[in-house]
Amino acid sequence: MSKDFHDQGPRRVGQVKEVTSLANPIIKDIKALTNKKSREESGTFLAEGLKLVIDAIELGWTIRTLVYAKAAKGKPLVEQMAARTVASGGLVLEVSEKVIAAITRRDNPQMVVGIFEQRWAPLKGIRPQEGETWVALDRVRDPGNLGTIIRTADAAGASGIILIGETTDPFSLETVRATMGSVFAVPVARATPEEFLAWRKSAGVSIVATHLAGAVDYRTIDYRKKPTVLLMGNEQSGLPDQLAREADALARIPQQGRADSLNLAVATAVMLFEARRHLLSLAEGK
Ligand code: SAM
Repeated sequence: MSKDFHDQGPRRVGQVKEVTSLANPIIKDIKALTNKKSREESGTFLAEGLKLVIDAIELGWTIRTLVYAKAAKGKPLVEQMAARTVASGGLVLEVSEKVIAAITRRDNPQMVVGIFEQRWAPLKGIRPQEGETWVALDRVRDPGNLGTIIRTADAAGASGIILIGETTDPFSLETVRATMGSVFAVPVARATPEEFLAWRKSAGVSIVATHLAGAVDYRTIDYRKKPTVLLMGNEQSGLPDQLAREADALARIPQQGRADSLNLAVATAVMLFEARRHLLSLAEGK
C-alpha cells in the first residue's frame, strides 16, 4: 500500500488530483481492493456508481477517496460529492476512462467510484427488539447470494445480518454490486458459531432455523413471541448439527417437483417476507 493511501485520515487536507497512468501508486492500491487481503489491511472497499456513492455519504459512511472519470467532470451531483469528500478530508481523483475501467475491471465502467471505510456491527451491541427480524447465515459462500440477501433483507425491513463462520466477504466488489446499495443500509456483524451461540443466550431471541428436514411448516411460525433470527444453512452442506440443535424451531418450506432444495437467497427471501407478512397482519389486527 502506498503511503498516500494510508495517510488519508480526517486531518488530511482534501485535494483533487488528475491521474491518467495505471502505474500511479494510488491507482495500484485502489485496484488491489479487488483482493480480500488488501481490503482487510486497509479496512476499505469499493462502491461503483454515483447513486451508491450519494447513498453511502448520506447514510454517514466515511469516504476515503472519490474517483470520477473526466466525462463526469462538472456534473452538479459529482461536484457536490467531490466537495463533501474534500470537506471530510478525503481525496478526489479525476481519472481517464481507461483508469476507471481498470479499477472496476469493466469495459463499460461507471463514471464514479467511491472508496469507503468498512463498517461491521459489533455482535455484542446487537439487542434485537420486539418485532425485529435478523438473518444469520452459516458459512455463506457465494458473493451473489450474500449481496442478494442483503438487498432482500433491506427490502423486507429486516434489522441486520449476522455472518457465521468462514464466509464470503460482504465488501467484495461482486457482493457490493449485488446489494445494489443496501450494503450501506443493513448492519452486518460476524461471529464464530461459538460466539453466535453464546450471544443468543443473552439476546432474548427466537432462533428459527431453516432445514430441509424441518418438522415445522414455515407458515405456522409465530414471529410475535420474541425478536426472530432466521438461521440459514450453507449452500452445499446446509446447517451443521451444532447450530441446528440449538434452534427453537426447524422450519421447512414445502416444495413440489424435482428440486431437492431452494437457492439460499430465494429461501431467505421466502422466510423474510413470510415473517414480514405475519408481523404486519398482526399489527393490522388481521
Ligand atoms: N444440500 C443442502 C442441504 O442438505 O441442506 C442444501 C442447502 S440449500 C441450497 C441452502 C439453505 O437454504 C438450506 O440450508 C436452508 O437453510 C435453506 N433452504 C433451501 N430450501 C429450503 C426448504 N425447502 N426448506 C427450508 N430451508 C430451505
